[in-house]
Amino acid sequence: MYKIHLPEGKSKYEVEELIKVFLKPGEFEIDNIRSDGEKANSSEIDICFPEFSLPYESIEKKEKDIKNEIKRFLYKELQKYTAKSPEWGILTGVRPVKLAYELLEREKSRDKVKEILNRDYYLTAEKADLLLEILKCQRKVLGSSEKGAMGIYIGIPFCPTRCVYCSFPSNQGKEGDIERYLQALHKEINFVAESMNEKGWYPETIYIGGGTPTTLTAEQLDALLSHTSEAFNLNHIKEFTVEAGRPDTITLKKLKVLTKHHVDRISINPQSMVDHTLKQIGRAHRPDDIIEAFNLAKEAGIPAVNMDLIAGLPGEDVDDFIFSIESLLKLVPENITVHTLALKRASRLKEIDNEYTYKQGEMLRIMLNKARKMLYQAGYHPYYLYRQKQMTGNLENIGYAKGNTEGIYNIRIMEEAQTIIALGAGGISKVYYPSENRLERVANVSNFEIYIERHEEMLQRKSDNIFKQEAIEC
Ligand code: SF4
Repeated sequence: MYKIHLPEGKSKYEVEELIKVFLKPGEFEIDNIRSDGEKANSSEIDICFPEFSLPYESIEKKEKDIKNEIKRFLYKELQKYTAKSPEWGILTGVRPVKLAYELLEREKSRDKVKEILNRDYYLTAEKADLLLEILKCQRKVLGSSEKGAMGIYIGIPFCPTRCVYCSFPSNQGKEGDIERYLQALHKEINFVAESMNEKGWYPETIYIGGGTPTTLTAEQLDALLSHTSEAFNLNHIKEFTVEAGRPDTITLKKLKVLTKHHVDRISINPQSMVDHTLKQIGRAHRPDDIIEAFNLAKEAGIPAVNMDLIAGLPGEDVDDFIFSIESLLKLVPENITVHTLALKRASRLKEIDNEYTYKQGEMLRIMLNKARKMLYQAGYHPYYLYRQKQMTGNLENIGYAKGNTEGIYNIRIMEEAQTIIALGAGGISKVYYPSENRLERVANVSNFEIYIERHEEMLQRKSDNIFKQEAIEC
């Protein structure tokens, strides 16, 4: 048992994520500093903070620097006891590319950024190079967001069945639920579009996600997309995405509806191309269905198709995962996104095996490294990266693109330097204030039934917190 005694006044939440990278739940306890004379018993390992870092209040440093100092100390201590050296160093946040961007803005030198990532954040040279490569690609694809340009997210929180690792608000609505939901959503689309038009704001990207939006019928999709195209000013649109995640929801008729409305990007997400895995994770489709859905998308004329895989699914070994990568490479989709399994509290798999995340780490590392090499060889390059809490092996998710097919919405949401207005149940708008370089969140309720009942209130929230904000600069 590790007993970690934080300095007084420091919250365990600031370090818990880093400790979990090294130790399993139940292997450690965190409290504030041990009082004089109190000794650990022989079965405990005590980690106390040195004198130099106390009292923090008297050190004239920014709160973030102090937090990093605590993390560096902890990293070194835990590395000493566990012999682990996590590649992402002390970074536990979701957006390491953003940190690299901020450092590059300040230092103006890639070598210097690499040095800082290694020296101050303990990243391996490989991870620092990866961040810098992605940053270079993103800067080439997109400059800063233009004044008035925004992202629009529209949520469809329905799926045909629930996957075993799912922690999203996904529902298998009863008859009539989807129709009632769409009616409420159409009102929110009208309200947001009118308010944006009045202010001269416009969508740079539209992303319809979920759930699985292609759970809707072709007629419902047609109505939703007609409504969206008529309401918003699409003169400056650069990308229109619809998630078509589950192959069992895809038909040629629906895909033709998408191309009719100029949707230029969809995501078909096999997660695995191994039959026994698909059964185990609660997916109703087989690998052949995925290939068929992809071919239909190309037949319908969708310009860019992304396909998601997840490394670390239950029952899979390295060969299974490599088989999935090879299967996708044969199809040559424009994008392949390689996720690392992240088990949140709400997922059924987490309930079944609480330590799953810790058992798979080394295997995941091999899977991701092999995948990266194969994708590079096949002409794909990494263009966005993010991390999540509870990721198996504390690794990362990487989006790869072939040619100039990088997903603009994906880059924008990760760089957090543009307002994204989210509509529908579970939508969380992020309002960007450039002069302060900060985001403010404005959330809709996540339960779709409550959303239907209280959608007028969601409009009021947006009115008060997005459209009435005189200070907002876009
Ligand atoms: S398709 Fe996605 S949102 Fe739907 S149940 Fe599966 S993981 Fe959840």
